[in-house]
Amino acid sequence: MSAPLLQVNDLKKHFPVRGGLFSRKSNWVYAVDGVSFEVERGETLSLVGESGCGKSTVGRAILRLFDITAGQVVLDGQRIDGLSPRNLLGMRRRVQVVFQDPFSSLNPRMRVRDILAEPIRNFGLAKSSAELEARVLALMDTVRLPRDVLDRRPHEFSGGQRQRIGIARALAAEPELIVCDEAVSALDVSVKAQIVNLLQDLQREFGLALLFISHDLAIVEHMTHRVAVMYLGKIVEMAPKQTIFSAPKHPYTRALLSAVPVPEPGATRSPTVLKGDVPSPINPPSGCRFHTRCPFVFDRCRTEEPEFRLAGDGEWVACHLDALPELPGPPGDPRPVPPNSTPVE
Ligand code: SF4
Repeated sequence: MSAPLLQVNDLKKHFPVRGGLFSRKSNWVYAVDGVSFEVERGETLSLVGESGCGKSTVGRAILRLFDITAGQVVLDGQRIDGLSPRNLLGMRRRVQVVFQDPFSSLNPRMRVRDILAEPIRNFGLAKSSAELEARVLALMDTVRLPRDVLDRRPHEFSGGQRQRIGIARALAAEPELIVCDEAVSALDVSVKAQIVNLLQDLQREFGLALLFISHDLAIVEHMTHRVAVMYLGKIVEMAPKQTIFSAPKHPYTRALLSAVPVPEPGATRSPTVLKGDVPSPINPPSGCRFHTRCPFVFDRCRTEEPEFRLAGDGEWVACHLDALPELPGPPGDPRPVPPNSTPVE
C-alpha cells in the first residue's frame, strides 16, 4: 500500500498574545494543539467544528502560510514543515487552496486570463505562449465558464462564478491536494450545490485529494469520504462519513449533528443543545476540553485528558466513555436528564 499523500503528526500552532506598554508576550492562544490525521490520494477529508476551533489554522499550517509551533506535516513522504522558502516552490504547486471569499482572494486589477496564466508561468507548466493560452482556455472549460469572459475582471462576475475562477486558478498548478477553506460557505444554497458538484467532478477527473474545511455539516455529508471533528484545537472524533453521521461516538459530534436536517420526512436525530459558549483557547479547560459543556461529564473528565483511541473500523475518538448513553426522551420520560444538557422542546 502506498503512503498517504498527506500526513499531519501532532501539529501544534500557538499564537502569542501581546499586550502592555512594550507589546510583551503575555499569553498564548492554543489554536491547534496536537492534531494528527492523514489524507489519501483522491480522498476528501472534511475538518469540521464551530468557528474558532482551529480548523482553518490547520489548513493554513499545511499551506505553510506560517511556521508551526511543533509537529510534522509530511507530503508524499517528505516533511514540508521545515522547508526554506526557496524549497517551498514544488510543494506550493502540489498543494493549492480555495478560500471562502473569492472576491478578496482574486486580484481585482487582473483579468481572468492573467489570474489563470500566473500559476502556469510561475511553475513553468507551459513551454510556449501558445501552450499557455491553450491551458488557460482548457481551465475555463474545466470549471464550466465561457471562454469569452477571459478579459473581464473579478468584480464583473457573480459569487459562484468567482469561486469557479478561484478553483480554476488552483487547478492551473496541477495540484494533488486542494485545501478548500470554507470554499462554499459564502454562496447561496443553489450555487453552493453547483460548486460542490464541480469539486466532486474534478476530484474524479484528476484524482484530487481535498481537505474540505467547513462548519456546514449538511454539505460535508453530501461530499466527503471521512470526517474529522475539531473542538478547541484538537480532533475529538475522526471516522468514515457513514459512521460519523449514523453513529457518532463523541458527545460533541452528536451535538453538532443534531442541528443537521435529516433528508427523510419525519426522521430526526437525537436532539442535543449544548449549554454555554466554547471556552477560550487561551486558557482551555483541564482534562477533556469539552467537559464544561458535555452532557455526560463525570469526575475523571475534569482532570484526565482522554486518549485519541481507535474505537472501531477507521474510527478514532477522544472520550472516556466506551459508548454514548441515550439522551432523555420527551417530557415524562423516566430516563434521567444529564446535568449539562437541555433537551430540545
Ligand atoms: Fe464528555 Fe467526559 Fe467524554 Fe469529555 S471525556 S466528551 S467530558 S464524557
